[in-house]
Amino acid sequence: MPELPEVETFKQYLDITSLHQQITAVEVRDGYVLKGVSARELTRRLKGRRFESSHRHGKHLFVLAGDKLWLRLHFGMTGSLEYLKRDEVLPKAARVIFRFAGNCRLAFDDQRKFGEIELIQDLDEFLQIRRLGPDALAISLSQFKAIVGKHRGAVKAILLNQQLIAGIGNLYADEILFRARTHPATEAARVSDKNLTRLFRALRHVLEKAIALKTDFNRLPKSWLLTHRGKRGRCPRCGRALKSATIGGRTSWFCAHCQKRAA
Ligand SMILES: [Zn+2]
Repeated sequence: MPELPEVETFKQYLDITSLHQQITAVEVRDGYVLKGVSARELTRRLKGRRFESSHRHGKHLFVLAGDKLWLRLHFGMTGSLEYLKRDEVLPKAARVIFRFAGNCRLAFDDQRKFGEIELIQDLDEFLQIRRLGPDALAISLSQFKAIVGKHRGAVKAILLNQQLIAGIGNLYADEILFRARTHPATEAARVSDKNLTRLFRALRHVLEKAIALKTDFNRLPKSWLLTHRGKRGRCPRCGRALKSATIGGRTSWFCAHCQKRAA
């Protein structure tokens, strides 16, 4: 599922491929993806315009296409972007295709159909209505401490709660907790000040490193949990078998030896 690093990678990709070209047509192949806008309306509003810039907040990507006109993309479980030159073949699960003058195209590909495309007027208003928390890469250490310290529940559930911190999903939450040597079920209020600092540093490191590697799983360090996560997986630090448990409604993988629960 695309999390903050994947969406940031899509943003960088869109920025280098798709800005400042006139949109000549929008083809909607599957309407499920459109939220609050018809295929006709989407085409009418975007035709003749250009994508001018983009902004990411959490797992949402916003593309500015004119005054008070933002295209919002959410990648659901399997969404991605693909830019195609003239006769390059569209990916199989292309749901919406933006065609540019010169015949290049940007495809929104989404196999499992949980993606969302919407037109919005006001970005701040959208963030407020959705009650999205600050972006995980935009918060300071003191903000992070305040957020985690103020809320009850498992520390992992807090990392996953988009209304508290936006952008972290199940996989990177496990990686952050592994790096900070914190058990995912640790009650947030019991995480010491020192460990909160460690957790914050792990959050920054994991998200930034994943972005720097363009979220290519084959290039992730072998010292990361993500490359070992799953059945028969072993802890890259101590070699013991990894454990799994449902925490915050999601399957968590961790090393019970390296990641201690606060007493
Ligand atoms: Zn271990």
